[in-house]
Amino acid sequence: MMYLSYMKKILIVLTILVIGTQASAQDGQARSFLVRTIGPLPYLEYGTGDDRLGGAKMTYLDTNVVLKVIDSTGTDYKVQLSKYHIAYVSKANVVADSTLRLANENLSGSWMVSGEGRNDLVSLSLPGRLPYKSVQQTDPARIVIDLYGVTSNTNWITQRGTNTYISKVWYEQPEDDVLRVFIELSKPNHWGYSIAYDSLGSRLQIKVKRPPENLRLRDMVIAIDAGHGGTNLGASGKNTKVLEKNLTLQYAKALEALLQKKGATVVMTRTTDADISQPDRTLLLRKAEPDLLISIHFNSAGNPTVSGTSTYYRYIGFQPLTQAILKRMLELGFSNYGNIGAFNFALSGPTEYPNCLVEVGFLSNEEEEKKLTKKGFDEDVAAKICRGIVDWLKAMD
Ligand SMILES: [Zn+2]
Repeated sequence: MMYLSYMKKILIVLTILVIGTQASAQDGQARSFLVRTIGPLPYLEYGTGDDRLGGAKMTYLDTNVVLKVIDSTGTDYKVQLSKYHIAYVSKANVVADSTLRLANENLSGSWMVSGEGRNDLVSLSLPGRLPYKSVQQTDPARIVIDLYGVTSNTNWITQRGTNTYISKVWYEQPEDDVLRVFIELSKPNHWGYSIAYDSLGSRLQIKVKRPPENLRLRDMVIAIDAGHGGTNLGASGKNTKVLEKNLTLQYAKALEALLQKKGATVVMTRTTDADISQPDRTLLLRKAEPDLLISIHFNSAGNPTVSGTSTYYRYIGFQPLTQAILKRMLELGFSNYGNIGAFNFALSGPTEYPNCLVEVGFLSNEEEEKKLTKKGFDEDVAAKICRGIVDWLKAMD
């Protein structure tokens, strides 16, 4: 009897513990709250994955976009985008705001398709600043945007006829609370686009960059990014101990000189040994509105036999530029380390302009280091990158 009552007591304690745990888990769920994005470059991530490039980015967002936090994990919040979609956002990118409200149903209004200056424009009204995500498609070239928490009440789409690059616009409702916007382009090339709400309200504006009028090098505004700088040294040479940050600047300047000689306008993210963060470079580029961006880095691997040149892109619509440059770079006798897609590099993240990261070669490979530090090789590389850009422009004509 004594034994049984002892067991009973343990059971009661255990039951209370279990109930207690369940109650607090429910509390955790009930404690969901609303936040809004802050700062110049808030972004969503797919998961909590973390390697040297950080978690895979889903999208940059505008500011004051309302997100529903359902959990907290380290430096991130887990947010519910729609019934079946979640994402993660850095706690530094949002602020809790008790005045925020999120309706159970958010209906989209009418759309307008137009064009002016350098852009075609799709604008659509929403009841609030809701989260979105975009992807690029090719063959045919399309921009596909998912609007989360949105149900269609779009009963007309006005097409002004002033749009010259967008050929078709339509939507689907793949889920009850996900509205999918399709924007098809009249040519096979992507020149970039931006997604943001109008300055005060909740009208979503998708600005699609038209191709430049003349596809000549001398009509281009080309941004060049010399990787690293200041206290951010990057890789270093095995024998020469050359620092990647110095080599990237030297090669960037060689490319700048050549492109200027050919008449192009060049925007440099840095011209000195300055420590500039990736967000600051991104904002500088956003303001400069270049036609394209070339980022220059040098590779390094633990295995000293690894060598070769490589080019990188994040979005499939920007792949052709990276292929054209790689093809020309291979003429310098490099082995082919590859054309790498879905690359989660900070400066490959913007959708506003085609961009290509060039990892010229491996500083960790003795033979390649010799080649990369040889006098005049920076000009050889500049010439090949320039040829690659010209090839790409020709292919788009
Ligand atoms: Zn680097």
